Amino acid sequence: MHMPRTWLAVLVLAMLAAAQERRVAITIDDGPAVNELKDLANVQRISNALINSLVSEKVPATIFINERQLNVDGQRDGRAAVLAQWLDAGYDLGNHTYSHPSLNKVPLSEFEDNIIKGEVVMRPLIEGHGRKLIWFRFPFLDSGTTAEVHQKILDFLAEHHYRVAPITVDYKDYIFAGAYGRKLRAGDAETAEKIKQAYLEYVDAGFESAERISRELLGYELPQILLIHCNELNSVTLRDSIARMRKRRYSFVTLEEAMKDPAYQRPDNFTGPGGSWLEHLGEAMGKPVEEDMESRIPKWIRERPRRQ
Ligand SMILES: [Zn+2]
Repeated sequence: MHMPRTWLAVLVLAMLAAAQERRVAITIDDGPAVNELKDLANVQRISNALINSLVSEKVPATIFINERQLNVDGQRDGRAAVLAQWLDAGYDLGNHTYSHPSLNKVPLSEFEDNIIKGEVVMRPLIEGHGRKLIWFRFPFLDSGTTAEVHQKILDFLAEHHYRVAPITVDYKDYIFAGAYGRKLRAGDAETAEKIKQAYLEYVDAGFESAERISRELLGYELPQILLIHCNELNSVTLRDSIARMRKRRYSFVTLEEAMKDPAYQRPDNFTGPGGSWLEHLGEAMGKPVEEDMESRIPKWIRERPRRQ
């Protein structure tokens, strides 16, 4: 007698679980285009492709800028115009410092100067669009090696009305992007294509890892925050990456929306080498997260890895 009712309840619960959407905020660092200090056309091409991908997919994103990239003789206006393009398309810009130093390697005062130098072009542009400069992201995710430096930089950022943007999903796109770029420049389109396919598969590996760790530490999947970079590889794969996220039942939210989750309200006291917000949480809870996304990348792609 009770069996059918039980089965119905199980079915309803399963349907509810399936219908429940995961959420992710996409953030793209080292904008407007990493390692493109010579050719303005490359910066424009990569930026246009990223913007077009996001617009076509109707997906919000926050782009973290290194203004060092704007400071190229004869191209300053052209490069600043790319930032305006992002704003015109409705996307948020954040400060990623001027020249991408690690707070774990340079003195605090030098790092603070680098933050201020990093908003000279961006702040008036953003405010001219009737918006506010809110977000800051630490280069290399390094936020200080001592509690004192860490607290001082958080105080400095708060005084300047910045919010720190953490990350939870990082599938090490820059390693694939470096290998992809080298193969393209060497005229090896066939291997470049193989790297592209391996990269797309790694999108799932990255999300799988963050979803599992999130469930282990919090008992649920918090809205994820994805870190990728403004590079050639993402300019040709972002739509496919987004399709993979949709397949995993993700819907797309702004950084602000994602960070409304109560989990993100806890103070991040982490000091040490970089790492994701989930790794910091694991440390704080005495449950260190053992996950090395880097070493799981095939060795032939991993040659000459570089942190970003
Ligand atoms: Zn960066």
